[in-house]
Amino acid sequence: MAIPEHVEFVIIGAGIHGLSTSWRLAQKLIDKGEEVEGRIVVLDKSGIASGASGIACGVVRNNYFQPAMRRLMAHSVDVWESDPEGLSYHPVGYMQISCEAMREDVRTIFEQQQEIGYESVFIEGENASTNYMRGMFEDWQAKNITSVLHEKRGGYSNNTKAMYGLSAKVEKLGVRIISGIEVKGFITDSTSNAVSTVVTDKGDITCEQIIIGAGPWVRDFWSMLDLPKQITVKDLDGEIHKNVDMWRYWQLEEGVLTVPPEALLTDDGKMPPVIHVDTDAPLYSDVDGSVITEEMWGIYYKPDWHFGGVQGGASPYKVNTPVDEVAIDPYGPSSPEFVSSQEFAHMWVSALAHCHKRFEGTMPKYHREPSGGIGCFTPDSFPVFDKFNENVFIIADSNHGWKMLGVGHLVADEVMGENQELLEPFRFSRFENGELHPVSNSPYPWS
Ligand SMILES: Cc1cc2nc3c(=O)[nH]c(=O)nc-3n(C[C@H](O)[C@H](O)[C@H](O)COP(=O)(O)OP(=O)(O)OC[C@H]3O[C@@H](n4cnc5c(N)ncnc54)[C@H](O)[C@@H]3O)c2cc1C
Repeated sequence: MAIPEHVEFVIIGAGIHGLSTSWRLAQKLIDKGEEVEGRIVVLDKSGIASGASGIACGVVRNNYFQPAMRRLMAHSVDVWESDPEGLSYHPVGYMQISCEAMREDVRTIFEQQQEIGYESVFIEGENASTNYMRGMFEDWQAKNITSVLHEKRGGYSNNTKAMYGLSAKVEKLGVRIISGIEVKGFITDSTSNAVSTVVTDKGDITCEQIIIGAGPWVRDFWSMLDLPKQITVKDLDGEIHKNVDMWRYWQLEEGVLTVPPEALLTDDGKMPPVIHVDTDAPLYSDVDGSVITEEMWGIYYKPDWHFGGVQGGASPYKVNTPVDEVAIDPYGPSSPEFVSSQEFAHMWVSALAHCHKRFEGTMPKYHREPSGGIGCFTPDSFPVFDKFNENVFIIADSNHGWKMLGVGHLVADEVMGENQELLEPFRFSRFENGELHPVSNSPYPWS
């Protein structure tokens, strides 16, 4: 089929955000009694789920210290729950299991979840926490745990299955997805700053609205739009930082222990919630007993039939290559440079054994294929959802994105003229205005 010369809505990136935006846009046109055919196109240089969305662990949770993130996640969980089967979504819940340094922060999260009606329970104290966990897993043995937040909603979804479910949904509504077409730049209108033409390697496409959901490639689109590579950031103490890089990369470390996924069912044979443990107990190697770390560490994991084992990850690490020189392609497990490290495998499996006796001695079962991938982060590690050049909406999610299925819906509503209060705390201007999100005591850049 020929590449169209003109389309009203051009969406760049067939990842979770691009497809979610197209879903809502199409539905809104249909609800108004209008045609969808020929009006919405999704362009991807590779194909559906070829970016971060195709390798995401798939965890969907509400647990965020930042109130604006929590409200946004509650909205996204509603969208996941709207079609669990079509979106390959498993509503098994989620647990944040923490050491004393995090107890207060997590209690705040719990209290605010109660305020917004997000169902969860909060267990406090070392004995109570251990008993709660042993009620699920008799071999639970994690140390220094003094609180458990158990979110009854959320869970996880299977990355590529969910993406193919989503693409089938939007194609049925009349959206056209074109793979193998690379966006190279933009041409702005002669009389305004608006983008009138998307330049691709297969020809130019004129359009009225552009939505960019480019995951780790957002750096390149930022350059194409001549947006500032370095910005001014006013921090939470009011201090001004000049010439801060707008983007930086982190390696997201994930892997699979190739035991039967059933090995992590609860003692009564049920699917457990997704488990996330953060503790300051020293972590010892399950291979030779040496100290891996005496600093705070964290892991998350779940039984996963799609990945074929117990799948999960740990804190990411900073990529030190200068941001403009980071090679994003080939992406994910195909990257010669950015895949999960041997140190990660050792740490993660030892941490699993720290938490459950059943995982002691399982290091040989760690899969040896490359996994993980890089993510592009903003200066405060939280998303930017904003309009630039009058008609270009950028969704830069700073790697909170899989769970944020609802963001595309909110963006579609904004593009159709309805301002969304849930997106307000994520505007680009927050860096200069000092309206950053609060920071927690978690070992992750994103909690
Ligand atoms: C290892 C890993 C695990 C993760 N786990 C989780 C998790 O458990 N839960 C969670 O909430 N988040 C998770 N994330 C983050 C989440 O995956 C991302 O935030 C989200 O998938 C980003 O979606 P996206 O649609 O913006 O981008 P992507 O899925 O990366 O899609 C961008 C698309 O843009 C296309 N593209 C790029 N450049 C061009 C161009 N010039 N022209 C045309 N097309 C282009 C790419 O081919 C790609 O398909 C994880 C990320 C990683 C890397």
